[in-house]
Amino acid sequence: MCNKLELDLTKTGIDAMDFIDEKFNLYSENHSTPESEILKSLNRETHANVLMPRMLSGHLQGRVLSMLSRMIRPDSILEIGTYTGYSGLCLAEGLSSNGIIHTIDINDELSPLVKKYVKLSGLESKFNILTGNALDIIPTLPGPFDLVFIDADKINYSNYFDLVFSKIRPGGFIIADNVLWSGKIMLPPEKMDKDTLALHQFNQRIAADTRIEKVLLPVRDGLMVMQN
Ligand code: SAH
Ligand code: CA
Repeated sequence: MCNKLELDLTKTGIDAMDFIDEKFNLYSENHSTPESEILKSLNRETHANVLMPRMLSGHLQGRVLSMLSRMIRPDSILEIGTYTGYSGLCLAEGLSSNGIIHTIDINDELSPLVKKYVKLSGLESKFNILTGNALDIIPTLPGPFDLVFIDADKINYSNYFDLVFSKIRPGGFIIADNVLWSGKIMLPPEKMDKDTLALHQFNQRIAADTRIEKVLLPVRDGLMVMQN
């Protein structure tokens, strides 16, 4: 059964993820570094040819990820959920000169597009593009990671956190996307669907974890930023 919030969002015809006022979004985008021509083109090509293009991080979130990565200057990034490579390319902007980004996606149909844009960006030597289930691949990666971006299936966010936690260097960061889930996180728990409940439980668990510093940034669909 559909809950009321979902019905209301559907009726508006607005992308459910755009629950933050569009005019603030636009103003913020217009006062941030513009999207590069390559990222603009990837954004367009994803919207034209790929299913569920609203999963792509987009201009504003892309700049946020780029800036956070520039602040960290990671030697090693792990991205869980590549999709068409937009967020990975943004995160890669902050890599140290010898830095590397490992990025995992289960959908092998996406990798030609990812490879095309990684090549256009001249970043082939920095990208380790992995295809398969992240739950199987993460244990094969040695780490340590300076920055992990969790953005694959929502049901497994807690599992991804557990798999990466021991591989994060002391002082390293984990960022989890979509933790506000189009605002559905505000529903009473008994009305939440599986993904919403998993994200809510993840947020509660992170909030209670005294080992880590954390801040939930209400950027786009919600970014949980955590430091080990
Ligand atoms: N990070 C991207 C968007 C990721 S969308 C961006 O911001 O532009 C989520 C992706 O997670 C999808 O491409 C989907 O194929 C992938 N995914 C879902 N379950 C997965 C799993 N178990 N292992 C690896 N990838 C998975
Ligand atoms: Ca996302």
